[in-house]
Amino acid sequence: MAEPDLRLPSVNAFSEADVHFMRLALAEARVAGDAGEVPVGAVVVKSNAERGDELLGIGHNAPIALNDPSAHAETLAIRRAAETARNYRLTGCTLYVTLEPCVMCAGLIVLARMERLVFAARDIRFGAVRSKFTLADSELLNHRVVVQEGLLAADAAALLSAFFEARRD
Ligand SMILES: [Zn+2]
Repeated sequence: MAEPDLRLPSVNAFSEADVHFMRLALAEARVAGDAGEVPVGAVVVKSNAERGDELLGIGHNAPIALNDPSAHAETLAIRRAAETARNYRLTGCTLYVTLEPCVMCAGLIVLARMERLVFAARDIRFGAVRSKFTLADSELLNHRVVVQEGLLAADAAALLSAFFEARRD
């Protein structure tokens, strides 16, 4: 038997709750796609030992509908979560998003003091936490977010490919 490649990230590192919340983010991404926006969805969840995981905010990409270049799924989910929490800092929270965050969103995730970021597919062209930059866990910044990737990545990537393919037709 060949020796397994232990450098590969293990999908088992994700919990059932992680899968559940990423599915919610994917459902939200579909809402964006149906509205003609690039299909990206995000949810913010607060871990709570007593009450269990608490969904604080949800959002999908909507820059066209809102005439707002900053209306990315992450931005909207984080704004709603901070409103729900009545706190501008989202300490102890995890952001689930179907696509690797851009520079703006990576900055916001750090500013919000998010504890963990879980994203599905990489964005090779604009991704700012792994592909082009590593802003969320940079040693140059005072707050570092735990970054995990690849959860339901195939589903997220398929959704994006189908969206852009349909637009080309
Ligand atoms: Zn963004």
